Amino acid sequence: MFTEISASLSAIKSALELAQIISDAKNQVEREKAVYELRRQLTALQIENLQLAQLLSSQYEEIHSLKRELRDANEKERNLESYTIYKTGSGQFIYAVREELNEENANFHYACPHCYHQRHIAILQPLPAGEHDEFHRLKCLQCKSSFTLNRNENYKPPLTIEESARMLAGNPWRMD
Ligand SMILES: [Zn+2]
Repeated sequence: MFTEISASLSAIKSALELAQIISDAKNQVEREKAVYELRRQLTALQIENLQLAQLLSSQYEEIHSLKRELRDANEKERNLESYTIYKTGSGQFIYAVREELNEENANFHYACPHCYHQRHIAILQPLPAGEHDEFHRLKCLQCKSSFTLNRNENYKPPLTIEESARMLAGNPWRMD
């Protein structure tokens, strides 16, 4: 950029010197030679200006794209900072939106701690809980990690061996 500006300035200086030569010229031959040189200098100056304009335009685009990247990075940072660590009923640590923890919100969700540490918000999706699942579970579709949440209110502990044997003994369909 500075090279182009300095080339333009020296072309202007030469053109001004040539204008002076034209006005001081003592004869037609000298004047025509200076006019020819002046035209050559002006053409060179036009080319320099064109190159300068192209350079400015490409630098403007670069600044614009850097500004956009910066804005996206700031937005991502703000989004990450809106989450806080949350301890589930089962004692695991996951992330949740800071301001929504104590509020009823239809969009309330938890975020994956593994993905969070990779600077990425991945919403944890609930998995269906069966009656033998002691805790409700959540899964990250991004990294496939799963987490236990709060206790499953419909939980039924699996039968002990004795209970199973007793149940089997009382089974009318049992075939000996
Ligand atoms: Zn994840």
